Amino acid sequence: MKQGNTNIIEVWEQEGQIIEGLPVERKSDIKAFVTIMHGCNNFCTYCIVPYTRGRERSRKPEAIIEEIKDLASKGYKEITLLGQNVNSYGKDLDDMSFAKLLRMVNDIEGIERIRFTTSHPKDLTEDVILAIKECNKLCEHIHLPVQSGSTRILSKMNRKYTKEQYLELVDLIRKHIPDVAITTDIIVGFPGETEEDFLETLDLVKRYNMIQHLLLFIQLEKEHLQQNTKIKYQRI
Ligand code: SF4
Repeated sequence: MKQGNTNIIEVWEQEGQIIEGLPVERKSDIKAFVTIMHGCNNFCTYCIVPYTRGRERSRKPEAIIEEIKDLASKGYKEITLLGQNVNSYGKDLDDMSFAKLLRMVNDIEGIERIRFTTSHPKDLTEDVILAIKECNKLCEHIHLPVQSGSTRILSKMNRKYTKEQYLELVDLIRKHIPDVAITTDIIVGFPGETEEDFLETLDLVKRYNMIQHLLLFIQLEKEHLQQNTKIKYQRI
């Protein structure tokens, strides 16, 4: 809201209902991002999202489908479905799931390519993998942030899966979709990470040769951590 030349911004104490129909600025005439849900329930210890965006709320499938049909009518060909954890989509709706939504979007005429991000490894289920396999418009790419190859560090991050569970999931995906591209994010130098923890991560990277984002965890304000920071740079 404007008052004279000043913008008045209201920050809500709690997340509100999803408001549909707000104007969207699109940067491309071909590709479009479509938000399917807001917020996150996971509280990874390094992440601020659940505090800034609130708990998970899914958009109604009808609203998502209507938006994508409208995009298709305007000539858009590629859709990327967005959520902090798309695999949780529909848990707050009746009889809805992310796999069902993928199949619904796949049926929309005019759309030729569908992507999604981001998947949390603890929530990626086999029905989603099968939807990717069976829906002809779904790109065979899954971004699956592991964050660390050390189960000890994963526990400190509150990620709720082990290295072994992550590797089993990758094997399951590759069993169903042999040509799949899997990318990941990794945090190097998480507080308390030892050389052994780092080598566990390196083992995972070498084993699967997958990486998209490599993040360095640094606390710059602490002088006594400078030596630690040097080690982190060496690891990255
Ligand atoms: S799942 Fe993603 S968005 Fe949610 S708390 Fe963890 S890192 Fe943040």
